[in-house]
Amino acid sequence: MIKAKNRTGLIFFPAYDWEITPSHPERKERLLYTQDQVMEEGVLDIRGIREFKAGLASQEDINRAHFCVPDVASRITPSHNVSAGGCIEAARLVLEGVVDNAFALVRPPGHHAMRVVHGARGFCNINIEAVMIEWIRRHYPRIKKIAIVDTDCHHGDGTQDVYWHDPNVLYISIHQDGRTLYPGSGFPEEFGGPRAQGMTLNVPLPPKTSDAGMLYVMEHVILPVLDEFKPDLVINSAGQDNHYSDPITNMSFTAGGYARLNEMLRPDICVLEGGYSIEAALPYVNTGIILALAGVDYSYVREPDLDPSRIKEDSRVMDYIKRLSEKLLQLWHDRSSMQPPDGPYMERTRSIFYDTDGISETQKEVIRICEDCPGVFRINSHASTGYHILGIHVPWGACDECRDQAQNWFDYPDDYFYAVYLQDMDRDAYTVKVL
Ligand SMILES: [Zn+2]
Ligand SMILES: [Zn+2]
Repeated sequence: MIKAKNRTGLIFFPAYDWEITPSHPERKERLLYTQDQVMEEGVLDIRGIREFKAGLASQEDINRAHFCVPDVASRITPSHNVSAGGCIEAARLVLEGVVDNAFALVRPPGHHAMRVVHGARGFCNINIEAVMIEWIRRHYPRIKKIAIVDTDCHHGDGTQDVYWHDPNVLYISIHQDGRTLYPGSGFPEEFGGPRAQGMTLNVPLPPKTSDAGMLYVMEHVILPVLDEFKPDLVINSAGQDNHYSDPITNMSFTAGGYARLNEMLRPDICVLEGGYSIEAALPYVNTGIILALAGVDYSYVREPDLDPSRIKEDSRVMDYIKRLSEKLLQLWHDRSSMQPPDGPYMERTRSIFYDTDGISETQKEVIRICEDCPGVFRINSHASTGYHILGIHVPWGACDECRDQAQNWFDYPDDYFYAVYLQDMDRDAYTVKVL
C-alpha cells in the first residue's frame, strides 16, 4: 500500500440538483468523471488520503462576506449552502489539524461573486472562498494573513472585489488576458484599494500559455511575493479551465502542470473553481492536484491525447511572460511607496454586469482613508432589478472613528434606499434596516 507524505482531506459535492440549464458547461457531470477517476486510480486507497463530508454554510456565514439583495435566501439554493459549507469543512479539517491540507471539490463555483450580490455572474452566486475566509477569521483569530492564489483561467473579479480594501488578504490571480476572455478585467494596474496597495496582484497571460509559462510565473513572481508576505494560510482557487482541452478558454496548460503548480505552491486548502472540459481534463487535473497535495508521485497522471510538442509556447509568448513577470515584481516592490490619497474620503463609481442573470448594477463606493485601521466603506448600489441599497462594511480591526462613521451612515441614509445593511466584522453583527 502506498503511504502519502501528507494527510490530505477531500470533500466531494457534485450538486446533482443544481444547474443553470441542462446543457450549460457548469453542470453536475463536472465532478462525476473526477469521482470515477479517483476511484479507478485507487487514490482513496493511498494511506493518508481520506474523504470527508461537506458541511453547510449558514446565512450568518454568508452575510460576513456579502450584501445579498434583498437577502441570502432570495439569492441562493441549498446547493450553494453545501458548496460554501464544503469549503468551510475543508478549512476546519486543516485548522484543527485533522489533515495537513484539503481539497474542496465542490460546485457551484464562486470567484465571480462580488461583495454585493444582486444575482449570478459567471455562474457564481456567492463567493465560496470569501465565505470560507470570513468563517476562518471568525473562528481562528490566530490566522491574520491569508493569501489566495487563483489559478482559474478567468480573472476572479469577485474575489478581487471582496478583498480590494483588505490589507491582510493578498489576492493573486493568474488568468488568460482579459482582452481575450470574460470577464475582461484583471490587469496589473488593478492593484488594490488605497489602503491595500499591492494586496491585489494580477497576472494576465497571453492565450496559448502552457506549462512552461505558468510555472515560470509561479517561480519568478508568485513564490517570491508569498515569501515576503508570509501568509498564515494559503488558498488555491483551483480553476482548471487553463487546460488545453477546455471548450470555453484558449490556454494550453496540462494536468501535470497543475500538479507541479500545487507541488510548488503547497496550499493549505484548494477550492475547485471552473473547468469545463469534463471528460478530457477535469479527471486528470483533479487527480494530479490531489496527488501533489498528498506528496505522492503524480508523473503517471497524463491525458491520453497529450502531445507536448503541440502545446509548447512560441518563444515570443515566453519573452512576453518574462517581461511581464519582471514588471509585476517591480510593481509589488514599489507598493509601499504608493501613498494613499489625502483623505478624508475616496470615491469610485463602477458598472457591473451579471452575465448569468442579465442584471446591470451601478455602484458608488466611498471609503474613509484612515490612518488607524483599514477604513470603513459604503457601497451605494442600484440594480436593474429595481433594488437600490446601501451596504456599509466595518472592517476587521476598525477604529472608533470609523465605527462612528458607519453608525452615522446607517442612522441617516442620504438617498431613497430600499434597505441599508451594516456588516460589522469584529462584532460579528449584520444589521438590516428596510426603509
Ligand atoms: Zn474559469
Ligand atoms: Zn479607522
